[in-house]
Amino acid sequence: MTEEVAETTVLIVGGGPAGLTASLLLSRHGVDSLLIDKRTAGSPLPRARGVHSRAMEILRVCGVEPDLRAVELPITPGAEWRTDLTGAPLREDVPSAGRTTVSPCEGLSVSQDVFESVLRDHARGHPAGQLRTGARLESFRIVDGAVRATVTSVDTGRTTQVRARWMIAADGARSGVRQQLGIDMNGPDDLGRQTMIAFRADLSAWTGARPRGIYFLTATGAALIWTHADDRWVISRPGPVADLSAGAVREVLGLPDLTLDVLAGGPWTAAAQSAARYAHGPVFLAGDAAHRFPPAGATGVSAAMHDVHNLAWKLAAVVHGHAGEALLDTYAAEREPVGRCNAEETGAAWSRLFSGDGAPFSGRSLAQLDMGYQYRSPVVAGDGGPDADPPGADYRQSAAPGCRAPHLWLADGTSTVDLFDRTFTLLTAGPGGAWRDAAAQCPAVPVASHVLTEPGWPDLYGIAPDGAVLVRPDGHVAWRSRSTSTTAGTELKTALATCTGG
Ligand SMILES: Cc1cc2nc3c(=O)[nH]c(=O)nc-3n(C[C@H](O)[C@H](O)[C@H](O)COP(=O)(O)OP(=O)(O)OC[C@H]3O[C@@H](n4cnc5c(N)ncnc54)[C@H](O)[C@@H]3O)c2cc1C
Repeated sequence: MTEEVAETTVLIVGGGPAGLTASLLLSRHGVDSLLIDKRTAGSPLPRARGVHSRAMEILRVCGVEPDLRAVELPITPGAEWRTDLTGAPLREDVPSAGRTTVSPCEGLSVSQDVFESVLRDHARGHPAGQLRTGARLESFRIVDGAVRATVTSVDTGRTTQVRARWMIAADGARSGVRQQLGIDMNGPDDLGRQTMIAFRADLSAWTGARPRGIYFLTATGAALIWTHADDRWVISRPGPVADLSAGAVREVLGLPDLTLDVLAGGPWTAAAQSAARYAHGPVFLAGDAAHRFPPAGATGVSAAMHDVHNLAWKLAAVVHGHAGEALLDTYAAEREPVGRCNAEETGAAWSRLFSGDGAPFSGRSLAQLDMGYQYRSPVVAGDGGPDADPPGADYRQSAAPGCRAPHLWLADGTSTVDLFDRTFTLLTAGPGGAWRDAAAQCPAVPVASHVLTEPGWPDLYGIAPDGAVLVRPDGHVAWRSRSTSTTAGTELKTALATCTGG
């Protein structure tokens, strides 16, 4: 049998949230990629049941949000504690209503299998992004700074030799790529075993038509989550439970006569770990391959998407000749501290969830973990301001270099967040003409220039009306000048060189 040979710029291993988002973003940046996934069918367990606002902002800019909203579950946000499902609420945890003031997007409640199928359809819509299911990475070598990989068809056993300039290891928590590279995980790998059972039953008599985001059933320590509109639910209860029967579900719910079908079940282990290194030569770890978080706060899928959002534009900038390879070193420099912090915060929150003090996030809030992190790396032109991401405070939007550029509704009904897409973006107000002229004279790196007329925005972005802010394609502030300058041309050119690793 002749062996197939394939060439691609980026080989993406894994078609979960990290890999699919990488494919979509690279295609939008005009970079070709080949995504392989060994699975031929979805996971029988629904796993995550939603993503947070920042990940939705990424998908909003990619045009995916409407299709996801169409399949969203109409939950009542928040958590409710009951002894069992038949009991009265002991406690409720209702999220504050403030999120819409800091983001154009609410979080999304949808089961991971449904989420992935929508994402897959969008990724497939781009000819630059090839997707192959039933294709397993067997081995790889790094040769002359590039990747040579052997990929096998799960169905036919046929092998393909793939040559790629770079590889994204989005191959999940047990990442074979990470293991082959000998990269250790730091942090606890066993915060407790759980058993998950997926089942179908009509629970509306006890939950109403819009169930809570999550129910904690204190008699058994189990969590109950609605996953699909056709009456599908999961329970997850502590400990390795051999009994995955309908009776086990009835016991947890406190409903001995309930009619139900068990759909799937199995054990899982909570961990709070981050890889010692997020990159090795032309290989980048992303998503669960780079970090494992316990589901306190449900940040796994969102963080996986943030990883590849940070990486995709950098790969594109190198491919298109707008940056040198040094820019790629900043992926690990920027994402590793975020992954480590998330692992620590969600690990502590997970432990507190079971200690019963009822205050899951006491370091950084969930919104802060989602949107508040501040990148520090050689391509962020820091301006000496204070730390914008301190623990112990809730998320406050900041345009300090390294932070996610703040959301503000614009007069035309769009958000500032919608402006940050495939190029660097220069934001100025009317009096910032010197900066706009400077941007027009920086042909080495494409810069989209936007004049904002909303009176509140210079304040929100921490500048005077004649200042300027440069935002990266991933929506993080690269540089800002609080006011105008007689040497605007030189300053902006220097800033762009710094922010592209030049
Ligand atoms: C029981 C459970 C409950 C969870 N609940 C939540 C939650 O409520 N909220 C939340 O945010 N997160 C939750 N998570 C975590 C969430 O599912 C992960 O964070 C998320 O899936 C990470 O996405 P990923 O793309 O990095 O990896 P994955 O989704 O794991 O995808 C990795 C992919 O790589 C493929 N692959 C692996 N090896 C190879 C190979 N050699 N060749 C080709 N393909 C390969 C796999 O088939 C898989 O499709 C939960 C996880 C579990 C297990």
